[in-house]
Amino acid sequence: AAYDMNRMEHLSTVSQLAASISHEVRNPLSVTRGFLQLLNTPGLTPEKKRDYIKISLEELDRAASIITDYLSFAKPIFDETVQFPLYDELEYIAKIMIPYATIQDIRFHLQNSDDAIYILGSSKKFRQALINLIKNGIEAMPRGGELQLTYAGSANGIAQIVIADTGTGMDAEMLNRVGKPFFTTKEKGTGLGMMVAYSLIQGMNGEIEVSSTAGVGTSFSIYMPVIEESG
Ligand code: ADP
Ligand code: MG
Repeated sequence: AAYDMNRMEHLSTVSQLAASISHEVRNPLSVTRGFLQLLNTPGLTPEKKRDYIKISLEELDRAASIITDYLSFAKPIFDETVQFPLYDELEYIAKIMIPYATIQDIRFHLQNSDDAIYILGSSKKFRQALINLIKNGIEAMPRGGELQLTYAGSANGIAQIVIADTGTGMDAEMLNRVGKPFFTTKEKGTGLGMMVAYSLIQGMNGEIEVSSTAGVGTSFSIYMPVIEESG
């Protein structure tokens, strides 16, 4: 099954995204605030105290996950469009993701570009989007597997980068929902990673396509405008 994420009706611009994410971070923070206030209630049983603290910690973790999916690398509104070498960027992404993959029994393969390929866009946005997709790939392989990050060549001024995993995959219904705000199948998921990746790439005039087979794996293709140096 394949799904073109650029045809989604609920296209959010990057600035709408910023507004909705700050709203999403505020929710768990106000829940935490409420429970911390409740801790002041006189005569609270130790069980209740433990409950309130547990919920507060969970809500703070949730706020942190939302920030991870959104703001680890990019300042989405302000990063300007420049050109950056794809080679260096893929090296960097592999370097920070390999330890994370390895501790989960996942073999990470990088097939890099040559160093003459320059992407048009913000390296930080590109990095954030790819990390969100790679994290999803890794999370889809709870019993280990293979994650491939591949430069698949460029044609007509467009480079193709592929992220493929051998994980759980998605059926047609999931493919339809992936990237919609807050769609998650994970107990502690945010349902924001895909939407953020999609918005960042689209904001740089790129595209993401996903193709997936339940039980076999998933592959994301990222298409980005490039400049090929002639020498
Ligand atoms: P989260 O990772 O917090 O759940 P995302 O927006 O990153 O939110 O992903 C949304 C959902 O899409 C995931 O919960 C998962 O069900 C599905 N998904 C995304 N990437 C993959 C993948 N590589 N393999 C299987 N399912 C995936
Ligand atoms: Mg995710």
